[in-house]
Amino acid sequence: METTTNYQVLLYYNYVHIEDPEAFAAEHLKFCKELELKGRILVAQEGINGTVSGTVEQTNKYMDAMHNDSRFADMVFKVDAHDGHAFKKMHVRPRKELVTLRLEDDVNPLETTGKYLEPSEFYKAMQDENTIVLDARNDYEFDLGHFRGAVRPDIETFRELPNWVRDNKHLLEGKRVLTYCTGGIRCEKFSGWLVKEGFEDVGQLHGGIVTYGKDPEVQGQLWDGQLYVFDERISVPVNRKEHVVVGVDYFDGTPCERYVNCANPECNRQMLSSEENEHKHLRGCSHECRVTPRNLYVQEHNLSAEEVEARLAVLGETLKQEA
Ligand SMILES: [Zn+2]
Repeated sequence: METTTNYQVLLYYNYVHIEDPEAFAAEHLKFCKELELKGRILVAQEGINGTVSGTVEQTNKYMDAMHNDSRFADMVFKVDAHDGHAFKKMHVRPRKELVTLRLEDDVNPLETTGKYLEPSEFYKAMQDENTIVLDARNDYEFDLGHFRGAVRPDIETFRELPNWVRDNKHLLEGKRVLTYCTGGIRCEKFSGWLVKEGFEDVGQLHGGIVTYGKDPEVQGQLWDGQLYVFDERISVPVNRKEHVVVGVDYFDGTPCERYVNCANPECNRQMLSSEENEHKHLRGCSHECRVTPRNLYVQEHNLSAEEVEARLAVLGETLKQEA
């Protein structure tokens, strides 16, 4: 069997004007396919945001080609070694915007954005008493890992963040506000929005958590748990000095860092679950999701109705409709 560690995963973005995102996307897709890359790229008039995988040779060719385009000449690529592709397909999609914040007035990060803090600066600033660290990601990302002491806004998705800030202004007022996200792109806009909203001292982690974890000086310190990533790896390590598990099993609350999707395709909820609990609960997040005829876990494991009943009985549930 061939073992390959000769692959790389690239993560990158650039806020720069792209005249015709539709045409750009079509041409870029062709180019990526020629290079045999796989991944997901978004293109908007405000720029590009992508993550792709390929062999070292393919990904290096891609980075060279992008750097030869004046629009992307100084684009930063975050590069992770990997043992194969991290995606199944190659998509390049035109979009209205790169990140969705649902703002009345859109923010142009090239004009307004928070101060860039390098990993060592962020590490120091985080430990200051007058600092509040705000996680600018979705709830399921936070739950797998986050900076120690960071505020988890009580929201499901990033786009609800502006409203949350307005409702919780008292937490942030008079403080130095630091934001962070996976690769930095969401903070470019969100920190800009905070500045526009009147917060005076706003900082953002330059290059995001990915860069922070690679920094030779801080080595990911003060990060607890793992980093959620949007490819087949699902999670990657950040803190190279210590590993504190913060994720908890959806079913029994024990420490857990294993993400699965609810087996009801209509639900598809992401939850942390041990293998044992996955089997026990037929990978369903609720009774309804366990007993739906479309349950993928039951299909994958070819369970008979009797076997399903036996698992449900342990939970005090049954397939039968109550009279
Ligand atoms: Zn469910």
